[in-house]
Amino acid sequence: MSQVAAYLAPNATDPLAPGIVERREVGPNDVRIEIQWSGICHSDIHTVRGDWGPQHYPLAVGHEIVGVVAEVGAEVTKHQVGDRVGVGCMVNSCGECENCVAGDEQFCAKGSVGTYGSIDRDGTVTQGGYSREIVVVEDFVLRVPESIPIERAAPLLCAGITTYSPLKRWGAGSGKRVGVLGLGGLGHMAVKLAKAMGAEVTVLSQSLKKQDDGLRLGADHFYATSDPATFKTLSKQFDLIINTVSAPIDVDAYLRLLAVDGALVNVGAPPEPMSLRAGSLIGGRRSFAGSQIGGIAETQEMLDFCAEHGVAADVEVIDAAQINEAWVRVLASDVRYRFVIDASTLG
Ligand code: NAP
Ligand code: ZN
Repeated sequence: MSQVAAYLAPNATDPLAPGIVERREVGPNDVRIEIQWSGICHSDIHTVRGDWGPQHYPLAVGHEIVGVVAEVGAEVTKHQVGDRVGVGCMVNSCGECENCVAGDEQFCAKGSVGTYGSIDRDGTVTQGGYSREIVVVEDFVLRVPESIPIERAAPLLCAGITTYSPLKRWGAGSGKRVGVLGLGGLGHMAVKLAKAMGAEVTVLSQSLKKQDDGLRLGADHFYATSDPATFKTLSKQFDLIINTVSAPIDVDAYLRLLAVDGALVNVGAPPEPMSLRAGSLIGGRRSFAGSQIGGIAETQEMLDFCAEHGVAADVEVIDAAQINEAWVRVLASDVRYRFVIDASTLG
């Protein structure tokens, strides 16, 4: 065991504070990573606040991790000391069930092990990326291409793959009209990725405050959802809408923006239920679907796609001491467009 500096949530409500987490000794298939940058995902906040259920505290969250390999186990073949690597939302899965074999480790039948707040194989609670080091089995460690600026690569490990996966699955590309609902961490990656895939991209944001940014990020159009005229103008205009909003939405209103056979894919994960009318689906053969991160091979594919297309997150780099303030800004929809923690300031 080794003890490493971290920032931890003491409970569901109090500010995060410096502390330590324990990391296991490097096993034969393990990689020890010196963390350099760690992104702040809205899921970190949902988790700590107990939105998705009770947690074990103190908890270090963070699942957008990039850094350098510091040590490898005797049987590791995929990574070497000094490699630039990343870890996303999962650190293990059974590897044998139908879903793992299909490359959907996030849907492991035995339950994939989350990067934080999960019970690991050794019975301990996993601790995430707001820390100086992490030990992860090699299969769950990604290669981060050299051409992506390292701090701008961190958010790709969650925000990137969570939007890449449904965009690809639902056919975003040339001739497709894609709406991105919510321009935060996930939303800004959805805009960049959909554009890089060749789609026509429209941002649907609460106001026009982020319009200049949205267009700079690659969107073709930008509309405010607070303006009722938006819903008239855009009626039946989209093939695909990716909903990244962290709060419940009026599902029917957005389904009505879909053309025949269009899909509204939910990646936002508010704890509250959302309802919809059957008529909004059947009156256009529309679908309402969900998507959760992406598998490991697909995450590597996404990183390579980003390198090839010059895609990286727009980040605000912060020190550990600014984490609590950053969380307040995320909750106020005031992130431009992902906070990334300089891990060297964690203590
Ligand atoms: P974020 O940076 O806070 O972005 C969410 C955006 O949603 C905000 O910037 C805002 O955009 C909009 N929004 C927030 N509150 C709203 C409200 N009350 N009404 C309407 N719009 C609102 O969050 P994120 O890190 O991108 O995460 C977004 C959601 O996805 C979270 O629920 C998170 O847990 C979830 N998530 C899911 C997965 C998955 O695998 N499915 C993975 C990661 C995250 P505008 O200012 O443009 O309106
Ligand atoms: Zn996340």
